[in-house]
Amino acid sequence: MAHLKEERTFVIAKPDAVQRGLVGEIIKRFEQVGLKMVATKMTVVTPEHVEQHYTLDPEWRRVTGEKTIEGYRKKGLTPPSEDPLEITAAVLKGLKAYMTSGPIVCMVWEGAHAVKIVRKIVGATEPLSSDMGTIRGDYVLDSYQMADTDKRAVRNLIHASGSVKEAEDEMAHWFKPEEIIDYKLVQEQIVYAPEIDGLLGK
Ligand code: ADP
Ligand code: MG
Repeated sequence: MAHLKEERTFVIAKPDAVQRGLVGEIIKRFEQVGLKMVATKMTVVTPEHVEQHYTLDPEWRRVTGEKTIEGYRKKGLTPPSEDPLEITAAVLKGLKAYMTSGPIVCMVWEGAHAVKIVRKIVGATEPLSSDMGTIRGDYVLDSYQMADTDKRAVRNLIHASGSVKEAEDEMAHWFKPEEIIDYKLVQEQIVYAPEIDGLLGK
């Protein structure tokens, strides 16, 4: 089995992140926590590629619809539909327009618990509810209600894989194996080595 520090996750700086000059800030936060970037590219995608990306997980339509309904209920609001699949059909249409509207920056980040650590730094899906200190909480102010009223996707700057399995499927969807680079960072010694030695003296 691979060591925990070899876990990888897939991230996209969405078109709004690129337009708002936040790509550097996003990269900085993942670097600062100790993760290692092992792949990156700027690209413009097709609506088909976006739909395939979001439906790699056959449960995504149901889960995302349910999450939206829950988001409305928690605020005492009535969801646009009681049917999760009806909600996600509209979301997917909005996502295709959003994700193809301009260049995006795709990345793979590697390190211990990469999937969970990145989701923690990114914050909850709906910026209105994401905690301060997270990227979505700090830099964007959108909500399900605003997006659904205007029949568009929630603009929340970033995509990040939700599980190790999702990360593996998404990496294969966006990158060729040879575009993901195996290399060492000197800082890994202090972050991961079982024993720290050789720091003192000349
Ligand atoms: P996450 O990106 O946090 O993993 P999901 O996988 O649930 O979130 O949804 C994918 C993306 O679809 C979200 O990041 C957001 O841009 C958009 N989205 C999700 N739910 C809605 C909604 N109810 N209305 C509009 N857009 C939505
Ligand atoms: Mg998701």
